[in-house]
Amino acid sequence: MQKTGMKGLLFVTLLLTFLSFESSTPERGNTTAAVGTDYPKDYFQSPVGHMIRLTGSFGELRAGHFHAGLDIDGTTGVPVYAAADGYISIIKVQASAYGNVLYIKHPNGYTTLYAHLDRFAPEIQQYVKEQQYKRMRFEVNLHPPAEMFRVSKGQEIGKMGNTGGSRGPHLHFEVRNTATQKVVNPQLFGMPVQDDVAPDIRDMKVYFLNEKREVLDSKPFPVGKQKTGGYDLEGDTVRIGAWRVGFGIKAYDTTTGNKNDNGIYALSMFVEDQLAFEWRMDEMDFDESRYINAHIDYSAQKRFGAWFHRCFVLPGDKLSNYVKTETMGAVSLFAEKPQKITIKVQDALGNARSIHFWALRDTQNMVTFPSTADRYKLPYDTERKLLLGDLNLTIPKGALYETLTFEYFVSAGNAKNQFSPMHHLQDSKTPVHKYYEISIKPYGLPEWLHNKAVIAKCGDGKPDNCGASWRGDYIMTKVREFGQYCVMIDTTPPQVTPVVFNKDMRRNSTMAFKITDNMAVNGLAYGLYYRGTIDGKWVLFQYDKKRSRITHVFESWLEKGTHTLQLEVKDDRDNVVLYTKKFLR
Ligand SMILES: [Zn+2]
Repeated sequence: MQKTGMKGLLFVTLLLTFLSFESSTPERGNTTAAVGTDYPKDYFQSPVGHMIRLTGSFGELRAGHFHAGLDIDGTTGVPVYAAADGYISIIKVQASAYGNVLYIKHPNGYTTLYAHLDRFAPEIQQYVKEQQYKRMRFEVNLHPPAEMFRVSKGQEIGKMGNTGGSRGPHLHFEVRNTATQKVVNPQLFGMPVQDDVAPDIRDMKVYFLNEKREVLDSKPFPVGKQKTGGYDLEGDTVRIGAWRVGFGIKAYDTTTGNKNDNGIYALSMFVEDQLAFEWRMDEMDFDESRYINAHIDYSAQKRFGAWFHRCFVLPGDKLSNYVKTETMGAVSLFAEKPQKITIKVQDALGNARSIHFWALRDTQNMVTFPSTADRYKLPYDTERKLLLGDLNLTIPKGALYETLTFEYFVSAGNAKNQFSPMHHLQDSKTPVHKYYEISIKPYGLPEWLHNKAVIAKCGDGKPDNCGASWRGDYIMTKVREFGQYCVMIDTTPPQVTPVVFNKDMRRNSTMAFKITDNMAVNGLAYGLYYRGTIDGKWVLFQYDKKRSRITHVFESWLEKGTHTLQLEVKDDRDNVVLYTKKFLR
């Protein structure tokens, strides 16, 4: 388990005797040719007409996932082009995530993906709208036949936008291996990105590890940048009071003429010049993306927003992007013999920077860790059922990355719609990989409110509805986070607030409303359901989840005169609001 509480005996001593004067000069890569060699370099053209400015790189560290594509900066409405010949294999419209997205299948075994589009090319847009009306749904997942939308390299397929989970206009561009559906780093295909800037090392941490590579504790490790361009730590000898440690590093990459902090492509660590750890982002399996929560120091991210890559692999981390080594990054320290440590970061074009130092075991200041009773230990590699009276948990094998000393307590809680005590499970800074079952016994819940009761996660802000199903006297759901849970009832219907709407809509081309609810959605709970009709006929409302906004573009077939709009919005507990208004068109 990981604790960042200060322990009096923790020492990381810097010996200011320089054993080496080598500097950390960056290595220059080839400015546009990527490192990987197995990928065709001139098959795909750039999907945009302007110079590529990256605001996100492949493998970049994001909340809950590794970034699966390149984020190409731009403005709403600029054309997006097919990267090569092929046909449109999938068209999706999503209220969050990718937004409006196109997949193009190419004959060379790769598929390219273009996300957050403002709109599709007219013939595609027409087809999508027909399908939306046919299915009476805004969100669709369409697989048009191969002969329907053939595209040639450089053909315009849509316009750049900000739909779905995007926070500002850009194109999210992916390359996938069609057979395996693994995502591949688009930069390995020679995308024209100008970059001769090496990544930057910003910070380091040291982790005290047990023999299973589980973290006992961690500590900041001083690495500052000097005016000369080198790092404080460079060439130093560091004494650490531990038998076995791992390191963590905060590193970012920028590209030529672009100050945006992007992610690095590869990270390796050498001990005595032997490879001890390597993480490389050539390809990635979507099913493994959540292992980011093991790869990073999750607790540091949750507490301080600091993204540290671990230079060692937690025992429950099954991400395939590590090179198998004997130690998987755990470094044994000796009292007499300093270990030479070299940490190297690279971008996808081969620009690299290394830092090296020597590490010794500090026998005078060894850190000790109290052992805890086995009763509260949750191993990462076996299923555990915890029956704690009013709370039961079933934590499956593989839900944790390392053995956890489980901390649990109960407090009263005081919300008036609360029908159980508050159960405090560990803390929200400990990652959980897989959904686990949680059941809570409610107290004093009247029969007629049974279908309004949910397991709620409480923290800052409004509580999350995590879903509910009854199991005897208990309410059960599945969640993927620790934190504070209780039973709450939700009897509050969603709210509809007009944003662009009034009695006279003759001069407007659209109408828009905000739809919101009292509880956020988490675990197995459903998000808001909505349905809009004009004079009883279903009409298309686009849903932008990040802005809680639904928008209808008036159809040309709507005749002049008075019409009745009806919006029905329903939450996970079937609380419904019906919003009915007349308007003139
Ligand atoms: Zn993206």
